[in-house]
Amino acid sequence: GDRITLQARHLISEITHLIQETFPKSIELVTDISANLWAIFGDTTQLHQVLMNLVVNARDAMPNGGILSIQAKNVIIDEQCAQMNLEATVGCYVAITVTDTGVGIPPEIIERIFEPFFTTKEIGKGTGLGLATAIGIVKNHGGFVNVYSEVSKGSQFIVYLPATEGTE
Ligand code: ADP
Ligand code: MG
Repeated sequence: GDRITLQARHLISEITHLIQETFPKSIELVTDISANLWAIFGDTTQLHQVLMNLVVNARDAMPNGGILSIQAKNVIIDEQCAQMNLEATVGCYVAITVTDTGVGIPPEIIERIFEPFFTTKEIGKGTGLGLATAIGIVKNHGGFVNVYSEVSKGSQFIVYLPATEGTE
């Protein structure tokens, strides 16, 4: 689709409106969006899809409820950061973080979660395509994704999208 200059704040508020209807009451939604976020240049439909896939995974990881938080902030990746993270290129990014207090991801499978068709869900409940699709879209936008997870504590997915001219 077409790429336009857009605000992470708007992307996130659209997603939270959509999910608020369908999420169980046992999941508390928290958002923390920095003021003066840089703009992103991207395809709104595709970036919605990225966030939606992460948020649905977070929901599925909290069958007994928990806290789903979505954060957005400006991040500058410098040479030192880039050396620590092989996928990062030096520059300005908007980082959108989706955190859950769910089941977490065992270390032995974390390398595989971005593979197409990799799923730990029951047949019919997951296609295994959510993260593969998400990372494809993010890379196509010049960004990258980091994941941190601890079994029984929860998971955190950080989507870095290159910033473009303009602030909100
Ligand atoms: P699907 O959701 O259809 O299984 P995904 O590509 O979205 O496919 O995710 C692949 C797998 O990664 C999931 O089946 C699950 O094992 C793991 N996963 C993804 N997100 C989370 C999360 N937030 N918490 C725990 N596990 C997760
Ligand atoms: Mg999924």
